[in-house]
Amino acid sequence: MRSCDYHIHTQLSGCADKEFSINKIIQLQQERGLEAIGITDHDYNYQGKVKTIQAAQKAVAEAKPSIPVHFGVESQMLEYHVTSINIRLAAYFDYVLMAPNHYHLRGVAQPKSFRDPRRVALHEIYMFEATIACPITDAIVHPFLLSPDVFRLSNAELSAFGQEMMRHIDQKRLIYQLDLASQRGLGIEISPKIIRYNQRYLVEFYQLCLEREVKLLIGSDAHNTKQLEELSLLEPILEELGIAEEQLWHPKT
Ligand SMILES: [Zn+2]
Ligand SMILES: [Zn+2]
Repeated sequence: MRSCDYHIHTQLSGCADKEFSINKIIQLQQERGLEAIGITDHDYNYQGKVKTIQAAQKAVAEAKPSIPVHFGVESQMLEYHVTSINIRLAAYFDYVLMAPNHYHLRGVAQPKSFRDPRRVALHEIYMFEATIACPITDAIVHPFLLSPDVFRLSNAELSAFGQEMMRHIDQKRLIYQLDLASQRGLGIEISPKIIRYNQRYLVEFYQLCLEREVKLLIGSDAHNTKQLEELSLLEPILEELGIAEEQLWHPKT
């Protein structure tokens, strides 16, 4: 199985380490033996400026990587049929990661209550459907993964809440969406954040993805060096899932 990481932020993302440059990331990942990576800052980091995108692409080329370094972007669904990125801008990137649940950002549709697992489940599946229906999406990042910052719960509470939420996800509706994702060749991200945020129960969801022949995208969602290394935490989970090379998503070249 090729080792890859297709979700990495750089210093351009305000939320990332200031020293986390494209050059540094490429050097570190090459040293760690990764075989392909993807740089994916948030779409708003480019502020709609083609010049900023081109400068970042130039930095990738100047690093003279010895492995394929793809140049993607992370966007989000705001509502059904409404994304934070437009088609014109999306065309500058190799791939678009679409987040269904960036609730911390302005303009993203919110569940009616962050305290009711049934309400959150209804909203999560609705936004998941929205990402799959969106023509700009190439892969879906962190679906059904709850962020402690948004829910303001401890990791233990978040785990209990999340498990309860997953019980309220309509399985037929989910399977139908996974089949659509499979037909469209969309990737679904699996990230070490499921360990960092204590939501390992999502393994069941990934099992279902594989059963429905959806490819999994491996992404650290790293914002600093330490988080790049966290990718290795996924290894036992990937083994448990029994993932084979052909079940992994890679950007089209
Ligand atoms: Zn995200
Ligand atoms: Zn991210």
